[in-house]
Amino acid sequence: MLTTVIGSYPSPPIEPVSFASKISSLLGSYDPYQSAVEFAVKEQISAGINIITAGQVRGDMIEIFSSQITGMAWEEGTSKIKGKILPLNYSIGADDLKTALKTANNLSKDYRAGARILEGGKIRKDARGVKGVITGPTTLVLSSRMEGFYDLENRDKAIIDMAHALNKEAKYLEGAGASMIQIDEPYLSTGMADISKALEAIKITIKGLKVPLAMHVCGDVTQIFGKLMKFPVDIIDCEFAGIKRNLEVLENTDLEKIIGFGSVDTKTEKVESPEEILELLKKGIELIGAEKMIVDPDCGMRMLPRKVAYQKLTNMTEAVKWLS
Ligand SMILES: [Zn+2]
Repeated sequence: MLTTVIGSYPSPPIEPVSFASKISSLLGSYDPYQSAVEFAVKEQISAGINIITAGQVRGDMIEIFSSQITGMAWEEGTSKIKGKILPLNYSIGADDLKTALKTANNLSKDYRAGARILEGGKIRKDARGVKGVITGPTTLVLSSRMEGFYDLENRDKAIIDMAHALNKEAKYLEGAGASMIQIDEPYLSTGMADISKALEAIKITIKGLKVPLAMHVCGDVTQIFGKLMKFPVDIIDCEFAGIKRNLEVLENTDLEKIIGFGSVDTKTEKVESPEEILELLKKGIELIGAEKMIVDPDCGMRMLPRKVAYQKLTNMTEAVKWLS
């Protein structure tokens, strides 16, 4: 089975160590986050992950976008919408994705730009690449404070404008060599989001993209799973380790989509044993079949201690190995 991560990895910025990096630091051209991306990539590959990410090392999933997108601001730990949301004429994540690809390729020639994950709707187990991750329009708007331009009644308009801005970013990521694009929409399971508006926004967000698409929705999806199946993406990714109840949605379904099968709980520091993970994976296989599963952690790993994150990934890939 193919393995991936959700996105974030605990990898703090690294201060300059080498003589060359100290010089570039003096010149103001040293980027401490570039080393953080490289570190996140090395760890994921060493843990045996097939489709890695750049680690989302520059901030949390809201901050990364809120601090850059026109019309938004990140102030004192809060995301704000202050003006009209517009697409950027530069990419937020393409440089990090390129760094991740280069680092990965130096470690193993199997990791390639634009590596194809799906062929004829089937998962290619030998695919090795980097995925682009963006936070979804509904989640970005609902987690921001509205200050001017859009009032609360115009929140839907903000979601649509956000979708256009994110579509441009997704295209930048695809152009930079992403093997797939994943959109994170955790708000869809909170009961706070209008699902039909979220669907409309996702259609705009993915317009014109050619790579396989995933949508990650963490939380309890038992009430909305049927609606999630209507989103025009190839993969729906949910958590099954931390929320066992989610397994119910996989019972007796005629799945047309691939499931991103969250197999380790990212909300606890307790590291699951490979045996424990294997048991969960077997349940998934029993319900939907291995050919419909991509194995990953429940959610991003940013809040976990590095050693815990690494061990969880290693045990997860170990369990997958036992199955093949
Ligand atoms: Zn999540």
